[in-house]
Amino acid sequence: MNPFSFHTADSIQSAMAAMASMAPTTAVGTLPPSTTAAGQARPIAGGTNLLDLMKENVMRPATLVDINRLDLSAIAETPEGGLRLGALARNAATAYHPLVRTRYPLLSSAILAGASPQIRNMASNGGNLLQRTRCVYFYDTATPCNKREPGSGCSAIGNLARQHAILGASEHCIAVHPSDMCVALAALEATVHVEGPTGARAIAFEDFHRLPADQPDQDTVLRHDELITHIELPPPGGFAAHSVYLKLRERASYAFALASVAAALDIGDDGRIGRARLALGGVAHKPWRRVQAEAVLQGHMPSTALFEQAAAVLLEGAVSQGTGLGNNGFKIPLARRAIVRALATAAEGTVSNTGDQPLTKDAA
Ligand SMILES: Cc1cc2nc3c(=O)[nH]c(=O)nc-3n(C[C@H](O)[C@H](O)[C@H](O)COP(=O)(O)OP(=O)(O)OC[C@H]3O[C@@H](n4cnc5c(N)ncnc54)[C@H](O)[C@@H]3O)c2cc1C
Ligand code: SF4
Repeated sequence: MNPFSFHTADSIQSAMAAMASMAPTTAVGTLPPSTTAAGQARPIAGGTNLLDLMKENVMRPATLVDINRLDLSAIAETPEGGLRLGALARNAATAYHPLVRTRYPLLSSAILAGASPQIRNMASNGGNLLQRTRCVYFYDTATPCNKREPGSGCSAIGNLARQHAILGASEHCIAVHPSDMCVALAALEATVHVEGPTGARAIAFEDFHRLPADQPDQDTVLRHDELITHIELPPPGGFAAHSVYLKLRERASYAFALASVAAALDIGDDGRIGRARLALGGVAHKPWRRVQAEAVLQGHMPSTALFEQAAAVLLEGAVSQGTGLGNNGFKIPLARRAIVRALATAAEGTVSNTGDQPLTKDAA
């Protein structure tokens, strides 16, 4: 058992002070939260990921800072017509919030495609962004893993890698980011707002998660002593009427994505696609988006041939990993077909899994 102390924060300042007092520093600055090094303080929200990792001895924080009393649970409109999602708003409260359901059905669908009702009732929005990979070797402390122990090696490369990356991987790590919510947030061009000892900053969602490169222990650009305060969504535009989250997995529920697609189209009165958004989950160390793939769609009438072109651009450079039955080469055609199907479905109209009737353009 690893002993740890427990600090209940009653303000953002007291949470940051508790975290800063334990923050180790390196030559290049303060370590990010994704590092597994022992001796740090970590904030705890719902605990649905952090506690599992502590029980498995994968993360060993010396102090847990309970942030659940902080006033960060609100979901409210922004003056610009967007939406502000508190870091401590629960995933379930977010998915079923009337403004999320009606204006950002893509986000509702993505959240509800993940985990189980009980977990979504506990899981917070901030924690969802910072949940860690489900690579089995990361959880198995008997095997080398560069994400868990930098420099120890990667057990997944050339091994069982069905769940692993086909895009953006490095020779040091081929893990994927497991979140469904984050795929929708990437497509919706959200912004992550954080606060640290030197003040507040806003990080474009695209820049928040990292590719592994030679530092796979660092999942995000968040610094160790920073807290996520809220996530901001821009105004939805016409996406609400034509958006779909499609998740493909080993079994119908309670499983992480082999590949998932967040697709949103803004279709004009002439039937042509105005703006398009496309992001993939389950295929890379971060939600995978390429604006070039979206540009392929803009200005054109929806068609299978067009969707296939966009899929080809989004998947350019995809490579398989692993050997034998552990090879994940099947993910490349799987993702290609999923992109085409998600775009075709989105072109028809939004598919909601909140139990509501599908949205029409007029209702959105
Ligand atoms: C069995 C199971 C199945 C699951 N299936 C899915 C799935 O299919 N799809 C999916 O997307 N997810 C799935 N999840 C993951 C789940 O969504 C995450 O565990 C959850 O979102 C994490 O939120 P939390 O509040 O519990 O985070 P915690 O466990 O409390 O924290 C996670 C990390 O975030 C940090 N943190 C939390 N809040 C903040 C903050 N405000 N600022 C800075 N750091 C913070 C913590 O220090 C910790 O490092 C599953 C989880 C389980 C246990
Ligand atoms: S893929 Fe990444 S997380 Fe998995 S064993 Fe390799 S280094 Fe660790």
